[in-house]
Amino acid sequence: MMKTFVRETILNLKGYETKNTPYVYKLDANEGKTLFFSDQATSEREDFNRYPDNEATVLCEVMGKFLGVPTENIVAGNGSSEMIELIMKTFIDTGDGVLSFTPSFSMYEVFTNIYSGRFFSVPSRRDFSLDVDALIAKANEIKPKVILLCNPNNPTGAFLTEAEIKKVIEETNAIIVVDEAYIEFSDGSFVNQVNQYENVIVLRTVSKAFGLASIRLGFMVANKEVINIIKKVKPPYNLNSLSQKYGIEALQKTEKMSRYVLEIKQEREKLYQEMKKLNIEVYPSQANFLFFKSTLVDLAERLQEKGILIRQFSGDLAWYYRVTIGEKEENSAFLNGVKEMVSHASS
Ligand SMILES: *Cc1c(COP(=O)(O)O)cnc(C)c1O
Repeated sequence: MMKTFVRETILNLKGYETKNTPYVYKLDANEGKTLFFSDQATSEREDFNRYPDNEATVLCEVMGKFLGVPTENIVAGNGSSEMIELIMKTFIDTGDGVLSFTPSFSMYEVFTNIYSGRFFSVPSRRDFSLDVDALIAKANEIKPKVILLCNPNNPTGAFLTEAEIKKVIEETNAIIVVDEAYIEFSDGSFVNQVNQYENVIVLRTVSKAFGLASIRLGFMVANKEVINIIKKVKPPYNLNSLSQKYGIEALQKTEKMSRYVLEIKQEREKLYQEMKKLNIEVYPSQANFLFFKSTLVDLAERLQEKGILIRQFSGDLAWYYRVTIGEKEENSAFLNGVKEMVSHASS
């Protein structure tokens, strides 16, 4: 059934295969000699003249342990961004529908357009909570091939419960992608359910909670059949050896991440309460940011004058903003900047 969503050209594709044959003289891949950084390699695999492990095996094993999911259910790549693109490459032919909520992660629409798909979206409720019944109704009308659920949702912080995600899966007929870029800051992941379904893909990243945006590392978690098709589509050696190495190290020290997440959640709650006190329309968030509305004139520009950057929206979302929860000092600087503007506006 899942295969009916896969583009025909992909179904007949043979992926790039690599072997790990033991050797004395490795003369099969046209690799050069190590001229640079030779002192930094800690194993032959990491030697700079060698291609990296095509399947990032050790990294996927470590990620599998962290998630409680078998290695065979995981593909690693250059951020969840590469994973979103791989999904489009695999399933979206010209004119195929892709459905999501709005507002949500802007790249869903961009990648859909790059692959000549048709992007549809269902608006959030007035309080920016997500209406799965409206999404299901839209899906049954337009029959998308792919439905993207950003959970928690960027930029609003809204959260879908496990029951709501299951409802979408059961009452639609599409590949369901759950983008869990911010899941560590929330109440629960869907990742352990991937083997329950043939059409569900969960995306994870180390860019947010793990604080490793620079190494561009993300993961796709899905049942084996989906994973095997994705592996045919992904470019050979897509993930460089340094990202594999740093990823393995970080994913073996997840207590560090957990402690940080706890701090951010506390800071999020504090900032939320403080903003409420200022009568700012701020929305509950399960991520490392707060989404809010403010009618203070030129809010973002005036914060920027103090060196404080926040995300500003336009169009339907004029007067809405998203602020990342940072270090205590950063959050205070933001809050003080806003307080100053509030007092000016009311005097
Ligand atoms: C940040 C973000 C990503 C991108 O993550 P990378 O792993 O850095 O590519 C994907 N989805 C959402 C919703 C994000 O906010």
